[in-house]
Amino acid sequence: ALPSHSDIAPPPDDPGAFLAAQRSAYDDLVARGLKFDLTRGKPGPEQLDLSEALLTLPTTHTSGGVDVRNYGGLEGLLGLRELFAELFGVQVSQFVAQGNASLTLMKDVLVDCMLKGPVDGTPWKDQGPIKFLCPVPGYDRHHALLEWLGIDMVPVPMQADGPDVAAVEALVKDDPSIKGMWLVPTYANPSGSVTEADKAARLAAMPTAASDFKILWDNAYGLHHLTEVETKTADIISLAAANGHPDRPIMFASTSKITFAGAGVSFLAASERNVQWYLKHLGMGSIGPDKVNHLRHLEFFKDADGVRAHMRKHAAIIKPKFDAVQEVLSTRLGAYPQIATWTEPIGGYFVSLDVLPGTASRVVQLAKEAGVALTPAGASFPYGNDPQDTNIRLAPTFPSLEEVRVAMEAVATCVLLAAAEKLAG
Ligand code: PLP
Repeated sequence: ALPSHSDIAPPPDDPGAFLAAQRSAYDDLVARGLKFDLTRGKPGPEQLDLSEALLTLPTTHTSGGVDVRNYGGLEGLLGLRELFAELFGVQVSQFVAQGNASLTLMKDVLVDCMLKGPVDGTPWKDQGPIKFLCPVPGYDRHHALLEWLGIDMVPVPMQADGPDVAAVEALVKDDPSIKGMWLVPTYANPSGSVTEADKAARLAAMPTAASDFKILWDNAYGLHHLTEVETKTADIISLAAANGHPDRPIMFASTSKITFAGAGVSFLAASERNVQWYLKHLGMGSIGPDKVNHLRHLEFFKDADGVRAHMRKHAAIIKPKFDAVQEVLSTRLGAYPQIATWTEPIGGYFVSLDVLPGTASRVVQLAKEAGVALTPAGASFPYGNDPQDTNIRLAPTFPSLEEVRVAMEAVATCVLLAAAEKLAG
């Protein structure tokens, strides 16, 4: 399980002296006049430079007999689909390549389900209030999308090995208004959790009162390893098919954090029936995706090993930043497990920090006043509401290594001051 605050150790011996010490450290911090932004998980400039060669590609305009400059090929360029289908372990016939944002594909799928109905159901908009399960902490934009569509959100705990599947099973078995769930299976945002194969198998097989239940399997970080461990994402599409629910999962991914966050390629994978359903609706708004960009990416990587080698270069750049987060937090906060615990991810873009319950918003406010912008407290929870006010998402990829270090020192100072204020009553 992720660290919790179920047994809060006694406060430091002398809360008054502890508070005075933290106030003084904080005053020193404010006096430094810092200015850092750790709010979003963006690739840093050095990472973007790894893909600079894309700007002079492609060198040709044909691939597999297709003129990529022209209309057509709604499912995306075959060569690029073959390359990434191999990396994500799915059949090419189940794999679509599109524009630069997988979030757009997620929105398309949900809007299509609402307006037209999923491939195995009727329009969700006609069914009264419906709900989605959201593992928490989770990705704020997943929540925003559901809220925008008027889909109610039910949080379920995210654990180190994936969502609390027992809680999910219990909720979905009797309530037909629960139409689906989000899941970031590998190196989840923000916990870094990896959904183990046994949990994936249970999600694929579980009985659901809604016959058109969907797992939106957002594999945004599936290839984003920080160590030499190349965690393999559970094969949800095969597991669901083998358990009689072939149309349950829809997988998403993109090269936003592989090549360019603003000019990459997004992917959708699902049963062939789901893919045809998706393309039918997509065809109402597109005659084909940007195949020039697809070919550019294909020429750049050449094959799956090209992507693997490229991802190792990303890791070489960002691993030291993640190490710096661990080092500073351990040095500054390691002695106070009752005040702060945090994840130690082996992939992805985030570290999830849990501070003394009731102090996360105060930490973010103190940090802001000291010039360090953090993701708003509660951002990783549906409706922005962290009932314990304990979770803060740290995003260390964009700032330089030195900035990460200084910013983490600042965060630690704020965490301690907020806790000291609370403990001193
Ligand atoms: N999914 C998750 C879990 C993310 O963390 C992000 C970006 O932070 C995205 C999707 C966005 O992906 P894209 O750039 O492909 O829209």
